[in-house]
Amino acid sequence: MIQAGVVAVQGDVSEHAAGIRRAGESHNVSVEIVEIRQSGVVPDCDVLLLPGGESTAISRLLNREGIDTEIQSHVEAGKPVLATCAGLIVAARDAKDDRVDTLNIIDVTVDRNAFGRQVDSFEAPLSVDGLDDPFPAVFIRAPVIDAVGEDATVLARWDDHPVAVQDGAVVATAFHPELTPDNRIHDLAFFANQNDSIDTWTSTHLILHLSVFT
Ligand code: GLN
Repeated sequence: MIQAGVVAVQGDVSEHAAGIRRAGESHNVSVEIVEIRQSGVVPDCDVLLLPGGESTAISRLLNREGIDTEIQSHVEAGKPVLATCAGLIVAARDAKDDRVDTLNIIDVTVDRNAFGRQVDSFEAPLSVDGLDDPFPAVFIRAPVIDAVGEDATVLARWDDHPVAVQDGAVVATAFHPELTPDNRIHDLAFFANQNDSIDTWTSTHLILHLSVFT
């Protein structure tokens, strides 16, 4: 069993919860979901999800509640994060917008709304490194990743722009993988690529639990 924290400032919480739960089932790992709205929750989480929404609002809340430094410590400890759309903007090194105080947990810079306004939302079949078949990627006022630093790897491109990237245990997408029943991006972020770390935490937790009884 792992504890997954979903930053719950705006919507998309239940969709992400369903995505990671389904991905966990295929690895026989049950997932307990906790919603993050204040500090003190992140330190108990094994993995984190940073959903989309409005990056200025998300950044403001993370900052005000002191959740931002907790997320940075989570990443420094090598624990996984999946950041999607506005989550990617918040996770980036720089979003070139003073209203977004980014977490700098993934080595990319982004341009907010560069894929267009709400009306320009679209779905595209995307080839993603590590997935056998194209992923149905839903883009909604998506950011463009305009620079990828040396710590980050591009997992997918659309129209020549990187739209999925990985930096250590952090995976970020410009699109919304939680809005389709396909949970392969959640699987990639939390289980397929990170099996060793998940196993390590599970056994660490088990040892901790057992030591309570001895
Ligand atoms: N463009 C939005 C922002 O700047 C992100 C949109 C989304 O998350 N779908 O925060």
